[in-house]
Amino acid sequence: MAGSLKTDGIVLRSIRYGEGDRVLHLYTPHRGRIGAIAKGARKTRSRFGARLEPFFHLRLVLHEGRGDLLTVTSAETVAPYARLRNDRAGLDSAARACDAVARLFEAGDPNPAVFHLLANELALLDAEPARAGHANQLAFRAKLLVAAGLAPQLGACASCGERQHLVAFSGAAGGVVCSACEASAFPFDEAAHAFLVAALARPLSEVPEAEPRVLRQVERAIGETVEHHGHVRWRPAVAA
Ligand SMILES: [Zn+2]
Repeated sequence: MAGSLKTDGIVLRSIRYGEGDRVLHLYTPHRGRIGAIAKGARKTRSRFGARLEPFFHLRLVLHEGRGDLLTVTSAETVAPYARLRNDRAGLDSAARACDAVARLFEAGDPNPAVFHLLANELALLDAEPARAGHANQLAFRAKLLVAAGLAPQLGACASCGERQHLVAFSGAAGGVVCSACEASAFPFDEAAHAFLVAALARPLSEVPEAEPRVLRQVERAIGETVEHHGHVRWRPAVAA
């Protein structure tokens, strides 16, 4: 098992540890979520500099021993995402995106699509911090559901298959439901349905805006889906 691992990784969390070390939670394309320790990372003359902070996209060499944590041997910056760090909304969105990934995907569950989606989201928030907000965060989460194999059913009633009168959403049923099946569901407007369809069909950079009322319905649909089928709870998509 011991050996070295070369991989890209995005820093989800960076935790001070002991005298001068850091423990990183990383998301990697082919190993999924992993934990690594960077020894001496907080010393002034650390060879790692300041690049072990959240959201950094790094090219890493890691040493893999017997323990749960790998050891960071070297770390080069692929993308620092410096602009989003100077934007309050961008920073908040990036933190929520990383947290959503960390909660839904466990260690030992590699998913390259999730890595690329997160890298795209951070690159977008960095290039256009004004994109940060409710619509962007919900579109990102909807795409995460798809990557996790939890895509909500939107084309027909998730209970009976009816294609008309899709007026509600049921997290338990796994998608939109018709007026005959809405007993355990909540009202889901045409506008909310249209937003979710567009969010899944378009790239993150082309996600449409929608009214706050509509986005609240979409957030509830996404939240109930991830709770029922992913068995995790996500933080609110935007600050209250
Ligand atoms: Zn139905």
